[in-house]
Amino acid sequence: MKYMTAEPFRIKVVEHIKKTTKAERQKNLEEAGYNAFRLKADDVYVDCITDSGTSAMSANQWSAMMLGDESYAGCRSFYKFEESVQDIFGMPYVQPTHQGRAADYIMTQMYAKKGKYAIGNMHFDTFRGNAEMLGALPLDYAIDEGLDANDEYHPFKGNVDLKKMQSLIDEHGAEQVSVVIITVTCNNNGGQPVSMQNIREVSELAGKYNIPVILDSARISENAYFIKLREPGYADKSIKEITREMCSYCETATMSAKKDGLVNIGGFLATRRKDIYETANQMAIVHEGFITYGGLAGRDMEALAVGLQEGCEEHYLEYRINQAQYLGAGLKERGVPIIEPIGGHGVYVDGKRFFPHIPQGEFPSQRLVVALYEAAGVRAVELGACAFGRKDPDTGEPIWPDLECMRISISRRVYTNNHLDVIIAALGDIYEDRDSYRGLKLVYEGPITSLRHFTAGFELL
Ligand SMILES: *Cc1c(COP(=O)(O)O)cnc(C)c1O
Repeated sequence: MKYMTAEPFRIKVVEHIKKTTKAERQKNLEEAGYNAFRLKADDVYVDCITDSGTSAMSANQWSAMMLGDESYAGCRSFYKFEESVQDIFGMPYVQPTHQGRAADYIMTQMYAKKGKYAIGNMHFDTFRGNAEMLGALPLDYAIDEGLDANDEYHPFKGNVDLKKMQSLIDEHGAEQVSVVIITVTCNNNGGQPVSMQNIREVSELAGKYNIPVILDSARISENAYFIKLREPGYADKSIKEITREMCSYCETATMSAKKDGLVNIGGFLATRRKDIYETANQMAIVHEGFITYGGLAGRDMEALAVGLQEGCEEHYLEYRINQAQYLGAGLKERGVPIIEPIGGHGVYVDGKRFFPHIPQGEFPSQRLVVALYEAAGVRAVELGACAFGRKDPDTGEPIWPDLECMRISISRRVYTNNHLDVIIAALGDIYEDRDSYRGLKLVYEGPITSLRHFTAGFELL
């Protein structure tokens, strides 16, 4: 029923976007070394490289910003922001940070330990980076169904595998595990949700051994909406009742507010432990700013206080989740192989099934990113051989990841379904013509392999 899922807002301000010719886009690609990160945003027509920090703010958020209190200590805007977070997370203590990775950093310093395991469904890159720098051992323990790119239906592919968790504890001892981090939704395998039952059971298992559980909550309201839709017993609960219950099983949460917070910058750490809060305060003072602003302007906290609440509105979430469904359904109709079920913040196209004749060493998903930009000026991102490929430390031989995808992220409240139709048409046409594409050769990579996708350079084969 399309009339149910159309935008629950009208458009008050527009931002022009540039249309380019195919010849211009080919030149842009060549200059960018066939790497979408190196394109100028002005040369992109529909930008789906990320959903982070790209939301359109509402009139209520913009007007709240006028009320921003820029006092150094104890500013009014902090208390509004704090109350909004407490309302959604049900946690008493809130430390703002300039964005999510700063909250990750503070959390990692307290919860990750050198030489000890940090279990997660699939850790987000910034936690992984922070943990590795500290010498901790991050482990991705998503359920096997979550790693299967074929279209087996499972409602909660973001779940943590309790059996893997238990056997690690049995084998190495609980004292070798310093923390469990549940990322909601699970970004790395397609924005897949985690069930309430799984969060509860992870918390019970961890609790038996006194292992703290943390929620990495960038997309907490999208996850809550999936729980409401798919998990028995939650259909009549409000989104905030669900988010508060999710948080009730965790002692601390970090959030990149650039996603479900509907703002362009911001993050925080929330906790129910006073001692953790007090240490976070000290670290924020050193790295971020005073306790009551943590690297944000008062006006940013005003926008966030309102945005977090808007992100929990059901009509908004219905529209939001349905946009991803719309894009996925349209692509499927054209035969394009995608990861199912479709997640919360975009659609992941399976590069291996799209270009089966291009081996991972020739970067099929990256080739698809290039083809999509060339065809329609649409920018997506590779999550595959370039982003996750590694070298065997002993032999130097490449190790290719299971996940070989192109992610098309949908920014919040920014594009209409007409824009998504552009993507469907372009990818559908490329798919029909797929046999005519050859792969790419990696000709430049920076010194840190795990970050190479941001600056890599390619040539067409
Ligand atoms: C984006 C994100 C982060 C990092 O946050 P930034 O705001 O980009 O610094 C951490 N965890 C998750 C799950 C994220 O999606």
